[in-house]
Amino acid sequence: MEQKKSFNLAGKEEFEYLMEVFGRCTDDYLFLLDLDKDDYIISRKALDKFELPSAHFSNAGEVLENIVYAEDLAALSEDLEELKRGDKTEHNLEYRWVDREGKIVWISCRGVVIRETAEGSRFLVGRITEIGVKRKADNVTGLFAERQLEIDYKRIRREGRKKRGTLLRIGVDNFKEVNERYGIETGDSVLKMIAQCIEQVIENERCYKVDGDEFLILLEEEDAQEARKKYHQLRILIEEERREQGYQNFYTISSGVVGFSYEESDFERLYNYSEFALSVAKRNGKNCSYVFRDEDYESYMKSLDIQEKLRYAVNHGFQGFEVYYQPIVSAETERVVGAEALLRFFCEEYGMLSPGIFIPILEESGLIIPVGEWVYQTAMRQSMEWQRIAPNFRININLSFIQICKSDVVSGIMASIREVGINPKTVLFEFTESGMISYDDSVQRLLDVLNENQVKIALDDFGTGYSSLAYLKNLRVNLLKLDRSFTSKAVANDFDYNLIGHIVDMAHSIGMGVCFEGIETEEELQKLKQLRPDFIQGFYYGRPVDRQKFYEQNLKIYECA
Ligand code: C2E
Ligand code: MG
Ligand code: MG
Repeated sequence: MEQKKSFNLAGKEEFEYLMEVFGRCTDDYLFLLDLDKDDYIISRKALDKFELPSAHFSNAGEVLENIVYAEDLAALSEDLEELKRGDKTEHNLEYRWVDREGKIVWISCRGVVIRETAEGSRFLVGRITEIGVKRKADNVTGLFAERQLEIDYKRIRREGRKKRGTLLRIGVDNFKEVNERYGIETGDSVLKMIAQCIEQVIENERCYKVDGDEFLILLEEEDAQEARKKYHQLRILIEEERREQGYQNFYTISSGVVGFSYEESDFERLYNYSEFALSVAKRNGKNCSYVFRDEDYESYMKSLDIQEKLRYAVNHGFQGFEVYYQPIVSAETERVVGAEALLRFFCEEYGMLSPGIFIPILEESGLIIPVGEWVYQTAMRQSMEWQRIAPNFRININLSFIQICKSDVVSGIMASIREVGINPKTVLFEFTESGMISYDDSVQRLLDVLNENQVKIALDDFGTGYSSLAYLKNLRVNLLKLDRSFTSKAVANDFDYNLIGHIVDMAHSIGMGVCFEGIETEEELQKLKQLRPDFIQGFYYGRPVDRQKFYEQNLKIYECA
């Protein structure tokens, strides 16, 4: 209902002054809209965030059109029209504005219509709240929350008295598991206990609770090593506390440390750095601390950029990907019997990237699933073509464990074998033993189906990981590929030489073939050949090259013969 009593507003200037004063007492923006003249007054602080001409402007409709999110304009106009017509006297709308950086901001706008005099202008007076604004305090731990950190940080920066500081981010490792295993109440008490321990470790500084299970401590004028010390003190305190409570639960904490200068670092960037630092500590195995380094962040950003390029390539016909081939030679006849398909990626910005860089990115992003499929299809088709020149030419294709565990790769492989029409006995899939640790049902199914269909299997990079011979017994693998890090040592070192000899004998005794990888020199070849491997692969016989070069270097002679 429209306010019955007419307000006698002394004037917009005074009103503007009052709004400014009240505006300082709240995080909201106060506003007044003259519904008849289309004038608008808003708390001055709104100018920091939104592209407004001033705190008091005319042609409100036009100005607001520029900051209201396009899709919400119709709803807003309709509501204002109803107010102007006098159909209703209260405004209560949740819709979106766009800030100076182009980010969408959800707002709740509420107001009531008042009259200056009985005949005079009608005003809509109210407040605008940013709905998404983060909380200032955390009820579980009683600590301040992220929003308060932002306010404190900006204040210290503005005051300019402090030059440097350190942001220490603490996170509980596997907090989700703590909640699942011991219940949410225990989870909450863990957070409370950590908060109390943190307060014992810090002196005049403040700790803030952020992101569910993380804490941020703004350390003043300390260097990164001091922050690390605090983290270690905290670990000790938590351990003591846990002992006192009779080891009712178990968890560890990690920390990310970012040293910064107030002048150079804006809050958002610093906050992102601290998130990155903690994520690195967790990636490094948890229960540890990592000190932020620009180089690491840059290479992380580069890997995100590469990921974008890889995704683009996947969505554009795999442009930029190419399969290279490296010859595999029979140790007995020294003739090329097949090739290993090795993926390459080219892009304008970085040139040719090696698989060591982009395969982990493909794996992390799941893109290895479509790319891996493209690789085995391309390699099988190529091998089929070469089999016309060299019958029984064998193609070795690498499989990632992500493909095995997170996709139905075995159906894809069998479908491709049928589609290409290749003899399955001439196809071999390599996978590394590192993945065997997560040996599960999908691995077993893959091995079973490949075995049943006579597709061959190799254990790649043997010697780089745990090299457990126990795996071999269960896996029914056809070929063992010994990595260069292993074979190269054997030339100078008798122990390794004899060990490799025993591995070859053992593999042969259970019907497995052996391929030595990374043979680069005549000396390596002569010495290692005495250990009677079945196959040899290495730069000595040829580097990985594109299909055309592979043909010229290895197969042309057979065609001419
Ligand atoms: P890998 O399967 O063990 O492949 C052999 C690697 O050793 C290749 O590196 C090859 O260029 C290198 N190499 C061969 N002979 C020699 C030598 O005499 N000396 C030295 N120093 N190195 C030699 P590349 O092509 O950089 O590939 C690295 C790894 O990336 C591969 O190791 C494989 O694990 C992975 N990879 C390559 N292509 C694919 C793919 O299509 N799918 C999957 N999942 N992984 C792939
Ligand atoms: Mg391989
Ligand atoms: Mg290998």
